[in-house]
Amino acid sequence: MIEGTKRAYNFNPGPAALPLEVLEQAQKEFVSYAGQGMSLLEMSHRSKTVERLNEETQELLLELLGIRAGYRVLFMGGGASMQFALVPTNLLAENKVGRYVLSGSFSEKALAEAKAVGAAEALASGKDSGWSRLPDLAGIAPKSDTAYVHITTNNTIEGSRFSTFPDLGTIPLVADMTSDILSRELDMKRFALIYAGAQKNLGPAGVTAVILRDDLLAQCSARSIPTIFNYAAYAQHRSLYNTPPVHAIYMMKLMLEWAKNQGGVTALEKRNAYKAALLYEVIDSSGGFYEGIVEKLFRSDMNVTWRMKDEEMEKRFVRESERNGFEGLAGHRSVGGLRASAYNAVTVEACKALADFMLDFEKRNG
Ligand SMILES: *Cc1c(COP(=O)(O)O)cnc(C)c1O
Repeated sequence: MIEGTKRAYNFNPGPAALPLEVLEQAQKEFVSYAGQGMSLLEMSHRSKTVERLNEETQELLLELLGIRAGYRVLFMGGGASMQFALVPTNLLAENKVGRYVLSGSFSEKALAEAKAVGAAEALASGKDSGWSRLPDLAGIAPKSDTAYVHITTNNTIEGSRFSTFPDLGTIPLVADMTSDILSRELDMKRFALIYAGAQKNLGPAGVTAVILRDDLLAQCSARSIPTIFNYAAYAQHRSLYNTPPVHAIYMMKLMLEWAKNQGGVTALEKRNAYKAALLYEVIDSSGGFYEGIVEKLFRSDMNVTWRMKDEEMEKRFVRESERNGFEGLAGHRSVGGLRASAYNAVTVEACKALADFMLDFEKRNG
């Protein structure tokens, strides 16, 4: 611990908590990186040092995801939202349709952007339930003109997640994993393309990881699109086609090394399940004082959402939580309620403290 620095219990939805060890390492290396007499911020992206950093970070990400062969990593700017547009720009051929699983507001945004690029429509939707349930994808069979199926594996705003994924045969499955990448073990081979803005489970804002299967690249380069939007160009240049967000990539590398030291995804998943259970237990045993928004079967371990009696009570909860050292517990402005985002870097200690605070608040206000 840095002398005199008190860390908040940070439940921000994104940008989100980073491990203290990662921040301290970055601080140590900030002014002079790797004995070079200059900061990484001042270095050429064509230097050997940055080239190596770029390569090592890509390799480490594939290693942690367990897909070393047949996939590659691209580092891009523009956030996950830019991928809403770039997925159809690269993968949606003229006579084909992009089909979207709707499970929350980010998935709706992804579909809206695809419609601006070409033909796209919903394949299944959980909207009728107010996003408290996920659509059933078992046995789903998209038409043969489907360019790809897009799914949001974890719904950050609503607090739900998919646990099983459809087998689509040769149709590529594209996943927005921004809020759950590296948080749980998934059968990665199911996915043809995965993207994730870094600012939830991978590091700071500024870089987005796109992980795609090699065979998709042929499709990307077949289309006439600007180079700067083209996945194949990023792949060809190992993401050094133009200046990448070097410092954000460096922070991601520290974050990935940290994840590996924690025991990788297997260990992180176990800890994440334990952390979320601490909060869901308080919600479920409160006799309705706290009310979970999502049906139990679909609950997310990353984003725990709940409501209280009325907005007045919810506001009081947020106010008091802030006075007690908690950050980021107000629900998304579009849905209200409360949300605790407990990404990989959020400690068990922080979740225990929040569970205790919730019990105490209930005792005083229930
Ligand atoms: C946060 C988030 C986004 C938006 O990310 P930006 O990097 O801000 O564009 C998209 N999808 C999901 C699932 C998210 O959690």
